[in-house]
Amino acid sequence: MAGAEVVICGQQKNCKGPPLISRISRDFRLARLWPWIEKTAARRFAFAAVLAIAAALLHWTIFPVTQGRITFIFFIPATVLVTTIAGRWPGALVAVVGLINSTLMKSPGQVLVLNSTEQMAIISSALVSFMVILVGDYYRSISRRELSDLHDLHELSAALASIPRLPDQLRLILATIVRMHGAHQGQISVHDAARGRMHTAASVGFASRSLETLQDVASAGGAKDRVGPGRDRFVIDDVETDVRGAEFRELARAEGFRSLHSTPLLGRDGEVLGTMSVYLPLPHRPTERELRISDICARKAAVFIERARAEERVSQRDRRFESVLESSAVPFIVLTPERDSSGKVVDFRFRFLNTAAAEVMRVKSASYVGRIVTEVLPRVWDDRDRFEMYVDALERNVVREVERQTEADGNSAWYHIIASPLDGDLAVWFADITQRKEQQRELIEADRRKDEFLATLAHELRNPLAPIRQAASIARNEKATDAQKRWSSNVIERQVQHMSLLLDDLLDVSRITHGTLQLRRQHTDLHSIIGAAVETARPLIDERHHRLELEVPEKLQVHCDPLRLAQVLSNLLTNAAKYTNPGGRIHVTAAQQGSELVISVADTGIGIGAQDLPKIFGMFAQLRSAQDHAGGGLGIGLALAKGIVELHGGRIEAASAGSGQGSRFTVRLPNLLAAPANLPHAAKKSNGSLAPGKLILLADDNRDAAESLALLLRLEGHEVELAHDGQAALTRFAERRPDVALLDIGMPKTNGYEVARQIRAVAGQDVLLIAVTGWAQDSDRAQSKAAGFDHHLTKPIEPDVLIGLLGRP
Ligand code: ADP
Repeated sequence: MAGAEVVICGQQKNCKGPPLISRISRDFRLARLWPWIEKTAARRFAFAAVLAIAAALLHWTIFPVTQGRITFIFFIPATVLVTTIAGRWPGALVAVVGLINSTLMKSPGQVLVLNSTEQMAIISSALVSFMVILVGDYYRSISRRELSDLHDLHELSAALASIPRLPDQLRLILATIVRMHGAHQGQISVHDAARGRMHTAASVGFASRSLETLQDVASAGGAKDRVGPGRDRFVIDDVETDVRGAEFRELARAEGFRSLHSTPLLGRDGEVLGTMSVYLPLPHRPTERELRISDICARKAAVFIERARAEERVSQRDRRFESVLESSAVPFIVLTPERDSSGKVVDFRFRFLNTAAAEVMRVKSASYVGRIVTEVLPRVWDDRDRFEMYVDALERNVVREVERQTEADGNSAWYHIIASPLDGDLAVWFADITQRKEQQRELIEADRRKDEFLATLAHELRNPLAPIRQAASIARNEKATDAQKRWSSNVIERQVQHMSLLLDDLLDVSRITHGTLQLRRQHTDLHSIIGAAVETARPLIDERHHRLELEVPEKLQVHCDPLRLAQVLSNLLTNAAKYTNPGGRIHVTAAQQGSELVISVADTGIGIGAQDLPKIFGMFAQLRSAQDHAGGGLGIGLALAKGIVELHGGRIEAASAGSGQGSRFTVRLPNLLAAPANLPHAAKKSNGSLAPGKLILLADDNRDAAESLALLLRLEGHEVELAHDGQAALTRFAERRPDVALLDIGMPKTNGYEVARQIRAVAGQDVLLIAVTGWAQDSDRAQSKAAGFDHHLTKPIEPDVLIGLLGRP
């Protein structure tokens, strides 16, 4: 655009050089003189007078040489100069002085014009002067207008810089272009690409109802079917005569315009952003100058529209970004570095913080924004490593992470802090990892407890082995008396009982953790359950000379798994006996409280510290204070009790006033109060009636186990056939066709499952098949059932149970 080049050229140093005169005038500082002269009429005429006198003086100075032959020589340049600088009338003054000068005699004193040649010379001088004045005045008016255009455009640029809003900017641009056209009406329409339509962004001199029609006209360049503004300038010299004006001629008449021209507002990438139109009251074809000005103003408008759109996009993105961050549960802040005069980062300033961060810092987010970090949190940079990490992330433009523990209002929290550079600022996330840390700590603790447990387990399992081994060697000793041998077998039985209890507990714990422990609920008398539990704990209670007080109502019926509930209570009673110094008191109460059955076991023992109370129901939990009193135990009794109570839908609690103050364990079971008295009571465990004379095939590769069990069965009056591998078992079965087959599972040659399957295939239901195995998981039971076994017994088997099974019809 030519106009734009004029402006730019005026401001840039490296544009092609200005004309010689202006260069000289600039160098001689004359440029400042011209505007000064122009300012008032008196100065302009004074300037003309000075130049006229100067020209006259020169004329008379060189008169002796020229003898009047070149009379007008100095007045023509003087007239040109004065006309272009001071205007036509001062120019005319110089010309008149020149003509008077020329009509004087060729020498002072000769006033008359003598001959026609001289008259012709004067007339032609007058004509030349006239022409010079006309041309000079024309150029003066052009340069004055260009100057004023430049001035107007410059003013516009300056004013736009201080206007912040796009509508005001467009209004000013439009007002300027309309004024520069000497018109009174104009309009800027902007294309809304999202809605696919134009809207008037600024207008001058129109009634609002006309604007919509006009913007369609101007933007579509008269093409009604075009969507969006056209790329070409649209010009109508005369609405009355141009066919394209037919549609809005009425409107033009009403609004009082005859001609118009619309310039497209082109974005940097060529997108048409809108149009800028000027309407004139008379038929008019836009001049070069007007088109140039229109282009300059259109360019300005396009720049501001694009800038506003870019700002809107940025602020929209910022708003979206902020709302995402705002709603994030992860505390997030943006920090701006504060530097000293040497540029070193000395602190940070809060630029943004989301609600989660504000909550962590216990402030309203707005109150921190803009403030220096140490102003708000004076001790925060005592953690120098953290500060250095932030600075490092910022200076090296890298993401840095660290884990930190914070203390506030007595609460400690762990945070994973991530610092990441963000456009010269620093974005900092704080992920709360307190829970993870707690879990880590718990895992380490659980691991430690597991190690301790394994050590205790090894110890607990080895403990009974010593008396068993010794008792066995006594029993073998020929010198041993019958009484000694009986004593040995009692010892062995007791120790085996102890080991199987331990193993049962372990299996139960494993079942509870895997969710496979099944309750066999039935209506039972609570009294009998507590009686069974007391019976189990009695030896220890007596051994430690405790006094046991029971406060249990008669005939309180409960619906529960009686064996499991007895297991819970015997655990509590055993603990009470263990963790109470000899001669203590153990108090058991049971009562219905509302919808709950509440059973409590209290002792006068070593008590439990408040800090330990929450831990004791954990797996393998054993408190240091209890170590001396432990006397056996794996730290799983309470975990098991808790699991069983919770399976019943109840809960178990521990309370203690502290070390040495005794403890109370309370079991609460929901709604278990008995049911009407006519409900069937728990069946008493039957010892089973013996049905002697059965032929039993007993297969086990462990000869000792097989033979001792065979001995037991023979003592019960059965006939026993032995086999020590699967093949032998099948052969014996084929030979003898026993009533019962007791089969070990893990046997050489053919395993117990296979043997059972083959026996079942041959004998059908005529044989009772019993698996005797060390595998006791539910899956093992399911497998033995699938193989055809009727029963599944775990080693060491309970002789009474086996005898009971054999006694069944
Ligand atoms: P164990 O008794 O085999 O160690 P438990 O799970 O039964 O395991 O008990 C866990 C821990 O709880 C015990 O080691 C002991 O420190 C504490 N504890 C349990 N019962 C009592 C009690 N009545 N008095 C004091 N401490 C007890």
